[in-house]
This record gives sequence, C-alpha cells and structure tokens, in this order.
Amino acid sequence: MTSSRGTGFATRQVQAAFTAGSPAFGAVPPIHQTAAYEFANLEEAADLFALRRTGIIYSRNANPTQQVLEERVAALEGGLSAVAVASGQAAVAVTLLALAGRGGHIVAADQLYGGTVDLLQETFADFGIGVTFVDQDDADAWRAAITPQTRVLFAETVANPIAQVLDIRLVADIAHEAGVPLVVDSTVGTPALIRPGEHGADFVVHSATKFLSGHGTSLGGVVVDMGSFDFGAEPEKWPQFTAPYTRFGDLVLWERFGAGGAFAALVKSKYVHDLGPSLSPFNAWQILVGIETLDLRVSRQSATALAVAEFLAEHPAVARVHHPGLPGNPWHERALHYLPQGVPSVFSFDLAGPEDGAPERIARLIDRLQTFRLVANIGDARSLVAHPASMTHSHLSPAQREAAGISLNTVRLSAGLEDPTDLIADLRDALVEL
Ligand SMILES: *Cc1c(COP(=O)(O)O)cnc(C)c1O
Repeated sequence: MTSSRGTGFATRQVQAAFTAGSPAFGAVPPIHQTAAYEFANLEEAADLFALRRTGIIYSRNANPTQQVLEERVAALEGGLSAVAVASGQAAVAVTLLALAGRGGHIVAADQLYGGTVDLLQETFADFGIGVTFVDQDDADAWRAAITPQTRVLFAETVANPIAQVLDIRLVADIAHEAGVPLVVDSTVGTPALIRPGEHGADFVVHSATKFLSGHGTSLGGVVVDMGSFDFGAEPEKWPQFTAPYTRFGDLVLWERFGAGGAFAALVKSKYVHDLGPSLSPFNAWQILVGIETLDLRVSRQSATALAVAEFLAEHPAVARVHHPGLPGNPWHERALHYLPQGVPSVFSFDLAGPEDGAPERIARLIDRLQTFRLVANIGDARSLVAHPASMTHSHLSPAQREAAGISLNTVRLSAGLEDPTDLIADLRDALVEL
C-alpha cells in the first residue's frame, strides 16, 4: 500500500491492497463472482498460461477479491506474498506439500490442532510423507528428530486448547541450523497479537475461518511467505524451486520469482491448480470485512478471556486454568515476551475431580451454560465451549492427548464479544454442584 495512507496496523487492516481506482468501483473491495476472465487476444492468453505474463486465467487459481485478501494478510504479517485457499486445513496442506511433498519428512509439535494431526499422520502417511511429533518445548527433541529428508519444522504460535506459547525464536534457529524453514500456524495468535516473522518464522499459516473472519460465517485459509527462507542456498534440496519446471517450459521458479514469490507461484500453479481447494470470492470478501475490525475484536476478547480465567482460577470446582496470562502458568513469562499486547482468548480449564465420570459432569456443565454455545469453532463473535477429548481432539490416542496436555476434565472456551459479566455469571451458575 502507499505509505501516504499510513502504515499502522489498524490502517493496514482497513486499507491495505485496495484502491477504488475509478468512480465505477465502490469504496469496498467488490466480490468478483466470476469463474473465468476474458483475454484480449490469443497471444495474451498463451502468455498467461505459460507464466510469461502475470494475470488471472481462472478462479481456481486466483480471483481479484481473493488477491486483495492475500495482499492484506501479507501486509498485516509483514510478509512479501500470500496464498488464500478454501480453509485453514487446505492452507496447511498446500504449504506442507509445497515444502515436503516429494517424499520429505516433517517435524511437528505434539500440541497441534487435531485436524492437522489427522492430515499428517494419516493422509500424508498415505502419500509417503513422514512425520515425527515432538514436545514443542524440548529443543533437543526437535534437533534429534531432524533427518536428511526433513524439509520443514511445524508448530502453532499459541496452541489450543492448553494455550502453550511457542518459543518461536528457539525453534526457528533449530530449523535454520538444519537448513529448513519454520512454518507456524498462527490462527490463535492472530497478526494483531503476534507477528511470527519478526521472531524468525519463514511461513505463517492461518485458518481465516477463526479470528480473521471473526464472525463464524465463512471458511478460509491463508499462508504468508515472509520471504526470509533462501531456497537457493542448497539448490539440490529444493528442486521444486530450483530445477526446471517442466509444465511451464522449464522455467525455474527461484530464478523467475525469487524470495517471497517462488513459493506462492508453486503453491498456486501446482497444488491449488491440481487439487482445487480454491477460496470462493464471497468468502474472501467476508474475511476482508472481518479483518477491518481484527485488532478491536481481538483486544476486547483477550481482556474478556483474562477476566473469565481469573474468575475460574478462584472457583472451587475448577482444578486448573490453562491461561498464559495468569502468573504461575508455565508459559506466562514467554507470553509476556511474545504477546505483550495480550494473550489470545482461546484457553481451557480442568474441572476438579477424577477423570472417571468427567465426560458426564462436563455434559451437565455444557447443558447448563446459556451464553457459551457448544460449537466446534473458535474466534467467533459468540462465546463458545467445547470438550476437546470428545470433539476436536477425539481422534488422538490417549497418549497423544496427554502429550498435548489435554485430560478428560479439560473444557475449552473461546471468549466472544458479549459482556464479560454475563459470561462469568453463566459459568458461575453452571458450575454449581456438578
Ligand atoms: C480451525 C483450525 C485449523 C483448520 O482450519 P479450517 O479453516 O477449519 O480448515 C487449523 N489450525 C488451527 C489452529 C485451527 O484452529
């Protein structure tokens, strides 16, 4: 965006990547509800198909509304380019396929989102892509898991439901010593609270379904390339960027597009093109509207979540509150360092009592809650409750669940935009004599 409009975060949320341009254009980015684009002549069409000229051919690969979203999220993260796709799951998948898809190996945190665990240990295993899971706080485990086939380290900046805060700098340094990039999923963190590229992450993935959209209306996903990883340093390790790309007349992506461009070109021209997880223009537009209020929502939700966590920490029916904003939490110091503006509003607590019978007590608690809604989502304007062991993390083995810090007693909350006093009263009423 032009610097005359201002470079502050809130300004970028509302203005980055869109200029109305002519009186025919509205003030708000339009929804380009079109499947394809008319070419001026056959020569232009042929140039576009051969990547000799940049432009749009067909909305499976790119759409103007989606491009505004891509540039806007890149501007918020401080990255060089971005690719938006149909869901967070698709963003994680195409990112990891682009980096490790040719029989590579991934080292990933134990604390990942359940859907990502499914992707890595089942679908990617079917594809011959290896994965080793490690405790994200164990530097030696990250180092020990790296093999000559490793092509990426992957973790979440703030995990859920336990809200472990990643030491991004530590894991980025380990990745870079091994000559591979660090990819982080920063869905829970959001660029309003943390910009992982400033701490060494090379690629940042979001489920835009959550805080970016912010109102629980639309699925979407984005990956941002910070432009920091040099695929040319060890060219034989990254043939997808440095060897001739046969489908485009032996073009070499790294030579043509370089840092901050080659990755997005590969993701779009190969993985999104071939697999088809395209973002609809309408969903791109919904997410753009959501982003305009990102920092306001996130700061209000963070403050509300902290107030709710402080209430729960004092409640006799609650054994533990997993919120890194609370002193004494294992990740409190790290949260102060990486999240000085506040901790995300997704956190959890453990009900007091044995794990035996916990699901029944949690079912009673959830039945009584009136304001918190039982929904498998986070980052909504509404406050949501979930039981990870029987919902989002139900595919994990008991050992994997334990490694992620989740017990049968764990209840996840995502604080919305309601009055904090109503949310606290709702929990107070529901926690009586469980
Ligand atoms: C929801 C979520 C995803 C998957 O995103 P979808 O948009 O649901 O496909 C990935 N990572 C995290 C941390 C999530 O919360």
